[in-house]
Amino acid sequence: MKNDKIREQLMEIGKKIADKELVVGPGGNTSARIGNIVYMKASGICFEEAKTSDYIGVDLKTGDIVCGSKKPTCEIAMHLGCYLERKDVSAVIHTHPPIATAVGMQDITLSPFSPDLAALVGDVPTIGYVVPGGKELAKEVRNIIKKHNAVLMCNHGLLTVGSNLKEAYYRTLLIEDACKTFVATKVLGKMKFFTENQVEQINNMEAESYRKMLLKK
Ligand SMILES: [Zn+2]
Repeated sequence: MKNDKIREQLMEIGKKIADKELVVGPGGNTSARIGNIVYMKASGICFEEAKTSDYIGVDLKTGDIVCGSKKPTCEIAMHLGCYLERKDVSAVIHTHPPIATAVGMQDITLSPFSPDLAALVGDVPTIGYVVPGGKELAKEVRNIIKKHNAVLMCNHGLLTVGSNLKEAYYRTLLIEDACKTFVATKVLGKMKFFTENQVEQINNMEAESYRKMLLKK
């Protein structure tokens, strides 16, 4: 993929994130990788206003700016850590969705309880509160991303990864949606997480493999 194209995709996904109020104001950040260059949102820019030039290219290993003139997001270490940890990851989305942020304060792992969550996301662990923008948060997130596709950050928000921006974005939407259902079960009283067998059944379905494959295109 050409570098201009990835910046256009980042801009489009950013506008969707703002439209759906997964973040308000200049919070949140996204990135996508092509080889050893990671394109990420510039610091302090709102998603709804971001232009392609607001997505800055940095070197994956050194973090040095290789494309663009603005300062990259303060969460640069958190993004680079996800790529350094997993070679299959080519996109990272960090947002502050209201319901997922509330669930992130419950010290739980959000386990699958619907076919989509089982097939496309898996378990979503929670990490305790860490001051944003530093190496400590990057380290905690990287540790979870080693084995999971998403992490809920206490008093902060959500981070998802994917093999491309579409996959990372759908994971963000699915988790916020699942968190709404989870909160509703607290009102109604009963919660039924999938058993390991039920998760395995979903993951063995041919239709789910096909849907997963489509997301990776
Ligand atoms: Zn944040």
